[in-house]
Amino acid sequence: MEQTRIRVAVVGAAGRMGREVLKAVSSDPALELVAAIDRTEIGTKTRELISGLGPDLVVEEHFEAALDRTKPDVTIEFSHQSVALDHAKAAVERKISFVFGMTGISEANLEQIRELCIQHETPGMYVPNFAIGAVLMMHFAEIAAKWLPDAEVIEFHHDRKEDAPSGTAMLTAEKIGNSRTSAPTPLPKQLIKAEGARGGIVNGVPVHSLRLPGLLAHQEVIFGGPGETLTIRHDSLDRASFMRGVKLCAKTVKSLSGLTVGLDKILF
Ligand code: NAD
Repeated sequence: MEQTRIRVAVVGAAGRMGREVLKAVSSDPALELVAAIDRTEIGTKTRELISGLGPDLVVEEHFEAALDRTKPDVTIEFSHQSVALDHAKAAVERKISFVFGMTGISEANLEQIRELCIQHETPGMYVPNFAIGAVLMMHFAEIAAKWLPDAEVIEFHHDRKEDAPSGTAMLTAEKIGNSRTSAPTPLPKQLIKAEGARGGIVNGVPVHSLRLPGLLAHQEVIFGGPGETLTIRHDSLDRASFMRGVKLCAKTVKSLSGLTVGLDKILF
């Protein structure tokens, strides 16, 4: 007997991540692509966006109308954080779950989205990093920080990234700071010859952000102890690195409750 496929609407479908999601959903037998929504490329065939793959859909503009017509089980969205609250509301009012990947959603908006999920008894997810290796990097860093409290984070991203430090670097530093069982070694008074040379301090951890063309998304967490260093490095070399996590969330979200933030919540 054929299993019922999970019906997916992709939002931000014409963007860099959106196109990757169109490909990932179209090639997964457990998922069915039912809508592609964006503010650009309206009317373009999705098959043109992803080299002839997937069903014969066109990119459409109106989010709510698309949801009403195609009745997805789940939306997967990589658009912009500014529409997160409106899109979460429109989805859960229709009992449609959402998987948000756009970064930078504010704590205040997340709180409102959390309440909407509860009020409408419809689960949703917000995942600032879908790369399984990146989630493992943070997990390993949390373990290392118990033994090696001296740590710094360096993140490297493409030059079109809007926010700095990245959400992943912020979260890594938060986790290191919370996991330390002893205070880091106090540094001597430093002569700072260029402002920012020692990075930004997040939860007591220096974080350094590099932005260069050619990069995608990379991070090193470096720990230092007497006579040793430990470097944990993760590289997203291709946007495909995020798709295992995206598909896992699309398949899992309906079994959760409320708002789940972070891939780690369903991995560990
Ligand atoms: P992009 O600019 O290539 O794509 C964004 C797309 O969203 C565009 O096509 C734009 O037209 C569309 N869009 C914007 N507002 C919209 C709206 N209201 N309705 C419908 N479509 C709308 O950007 P990108 O590189 O694909 O990244 C998108 C987001 O995903 C960013 O916030 C980025 O930081 C985030 N991101 C997250 C992860 C993760 O693992 N969570 C990984 C990579 C990127």
